[in-house]
Amino acid sequence: MNEVALPQLEDKHGRRFEYLRLSLTDVCNFRCSYCLPDGYRKAKGVPANLTVDEIRRLVSAFAELGLWKVRLTGGEPTLRREFQEIAAAVSGISGVRKIAVTTNGYRLAERAQSYADAGISAINISMDSLKPARFRAITGHDRLDEILRGIEACRAAGIGSIKLNAVLLKGLNDDELDDFTAFVVAHDLALRFIEVMRTNDNPEYFNAHHLPGIYVANRLEALGWQRQARQAGAGPAIDYANPHGPGRIGIIAPYSKDFCASCNRLRVSATGKLHLCLFGDAGIDLRPLLQRDDQRAELIERLHRLVATKAPAHLLHQGNSGATPHLASIGG
Ligand code: SAM
Ligand code: SF4
Repeated sequence: MNEVALPQLEDKHGRRFEYLRLSLTDVCNFRCSYCLPDGYRKAKGVPANLTVDEIRRLVSAFAELGLWKVRLTGGEPTLRREFQEIAAAVSGISGVRKIAVTTNGYRLAERAQSYADAGISAINISMDSLKPARFRAITGHDRLDEILRGIEACRAAGIGSIKLNAVLLKGLNDDELDDFTAFVVAHDLALRFIEVMRTNDNPEYFNAHHLPGIYVANRLEALGWQRQARQAGAGPAIDYANPHGPGRIGIIAPYSKDFCASCNRLRVSATGKLHLCLFGDAGIDLRPLLQRDDQRAELIERLHRLVATKAPAHLLHQGNSGATPHLASIGG
């Protein structure tokens, strides 16, 4: 136990990192057209996923450096056999105050209670359309109804934060803006529109379907929704509230000016590679330092050194998506 608090993780641009996005697997059972349109294919020679003990050592070191929020992601994180064991292990780490998961909603209705029991207090559920046929066309699965039942199951299980993620897609769901808005109002929910991001695998798709987040902002403002002041330490989303009742809508617009200035997150892949940016280089292998509890001091020192080198901004505007083939490889 350290008696003296260690300095927090901070880079040379004054950004502090209190939020880890941890991928548990790059396997996914969906075929989202912007992510894995041909479904998951196992690449040759990929190392095994981090074990529960390796994850515990990793997150404990981050927590000692002031990180308090962990999001479990993937691929589809809930496909990991040890998903609940991992969530419970992370929630037991001193300093971790919030465990979130991002899921495609697979079997959510029947599993929500077990997620809550494992300590998950926040869930983001991907839902790109409210129309069953479109949902199927975008994700390859006829599971919209399962998601809708899953949302109710999350509420019944007492999961405090339930958010929907919808990737904004020109020509595929941009005509559903008002339907989504009515849905979050009727169900008292929060939803985030995410601009589709260009990755190494999807440049044509990106060119065909990218729509700037300002399209959503303009519509919300026309409906009288109010842009919220950015809270200290908040991430890069632009948030709107409905002044007439419940419902919140956020916009994640990575192509907008200054998006990277408020970056507060770090990422670790399922095999233990630290990614300082979603669109950065191949990632730095932390696994050799996750093998024994007595490597903790060395791991902490390495994290400090690496985080200090984080680049000020991504190079997406120059058409450079770094080494990221698709977001299932890092967790979005
Ligand atoms: N499988 C889970 C899911 O879909 O929620 C978690 C992993 S997924 C990579 C995390 C988030 O990234 C999802 O909300 C997904 O819609 C989003 N995403 C994936 N590829 C994207 C892309 N090219 N542009 C924008 N968002 C993307
Ligand atoms: Fe799977 Fe999520 Fe990618 Fe869809 S966005 S293919 S659910 S990892």
